Amino acid sequence: MSEYQPAVEKIIKSARQNNNSYMKLQELCDDIGCRLSGSPELEQAIDWAVESLQKDGHENVRKEPVNVPKWVRGKESCELVSPRSMAIQMLGLGGSIGTGAGGIEADVIVVDSKEELDELADEAIQGKIVVFNCAMPRFSETEGSGYGSTVIYRSNGARWAAERGGVAALVRSITAYSLDSPHTGAMRYSGGPDVKKIPTAAISVEGATLLRRFQNRGITPRVKLYMEAEDQGEAPSHNVLAEIVGYEKPEEIVVIGGHIDSWDVGTGAHDDGAGCVAAMEALAILRRLNLKPRRTIRVVLWTNEENGIAGALNYFNRHQDEIHVAGIESDSGGFSPEGLNLDMEDKQKESVAEVQLQGLLDLLKPINASRLRTGFSGVDIGQLKPMGTACLGLSVDGRLYFNTHHTHADTVDKVDPKQLTDCAVTMAAAAFVLADMPKKLGEK
Ligand SMILES: [Zn+2]
Repeated sequence: MSEYQPAVEKIIKSARQNNNSYMKLQELCDDIGCRLSGSPELEQAIDWAVESLQKDGHENVRKEPVNVPKWVRGKESCELVSPRSMAIQMLGLGGSIGTGAGGIEADVIVVDSKEELDELADEAIQGKIVVFNCAMPRFSETEGSGYGSTVIYRSNGARWAAERGGVAALVRSITAYSLDSPHTGAMRYSGGPDVKKIPTAAISVEGATLLRRFQNRGITPRVKLYMEAEDQGEAPSHNVLAEIVGYEKPEEIVVIGGHIDSWDVGTGAHDDGAGCVAAMEALAILRRLNLKPRRTIRVVLWTNEENGIAGALNYFNRHQDEIHVAGIESDSGGFSPEGLNLDMEDKQKESVAEVQLQGLLDLLKPINASRLRTGFSGVDIGQLKPMGTACLGLSVDGRLYFNTHHTHADTVDKVDPKQLTDCAVTMAAAAFVLADMPKKLGEK
């Protein structure tokens, strides 16, 4: 891989001379704002991306139509009624039904885990608002974020509560750090037609732990939940594509991208504005340096990752006959890049790819982004795994991501321009080498 060292050095030097990624992020997040599927802002963002990619001079800039689910939050509130009156900070969960005009007022039962719920008698749950007070562990270098083990409460809490006769489910926000900030996210109703759909919302860590302390002291808190949330069917949306077409094997493709949609709070700066602009700027860096690889590099900005992955599924169906050598998704925030995560269907090829990728990542030692791990790549790019594509996730410093994830506070001020630039550098360097190396990644 040492033959690529001059190109990677050029990429680093050129990218660090400006704040182009950060400028793009401001246009996307400050000028347009949050971008939930089905909203006019999401389509504005998509049109902005097309225009920006055209301005950067890329080939085959286009939108591909995708139908996405449309869920609308409406007005909502959660009030502690007894033992005293107080507003509990909340955000309804994406996909939840509303409460009806009168809201739902009921006594609360708090559990810290599914196991604790399972041990309760039916009478303790029936007619109650069930609060899942499961704490997300603090980030650690060895264990990571602990998101996977706690997000199941957000996804399944409504079903678990409904199965036992609960009338609504409140879920402690999936975060290890809180300033009374509620964190929204997707939920799903499953368990078959016999399980009643009940409204569900995230409440702040402060709210959930207060309710727990009341219960521990023998006080039964009473809460009134009001949500206008509504499923409004489907709406038209689009994936965005742009390319540097390869000079030797244009039909072989390396994808880089992020998801253009966000939740309807904050401005989706880290999630996933940062991933989109890093991929866009990565292509722009290569274009400016006139680094044209053998294969085609394609930016894809997927729509509807947050509450449906309709964009990634549509991309897969539309492009499954093309040769996707590798794909890199950035969807862990725009923090200092640490390297790449690799996930491949064929484990033999994966072990060959590991050696090749480590050689590639060694070129990124000057920006400390040389760590290769195997495991989860990304929700959108992961859809390409069954085709044999080497799926890669941009891995970044993960200490802060979940502090503001899916909150009102996921805004541009949380993103460091230099760190974001290095994300674009890592994607540009990796995409260029993967698209230019004589053999395909994973081939001996
Ligand atoms: Zn995301």
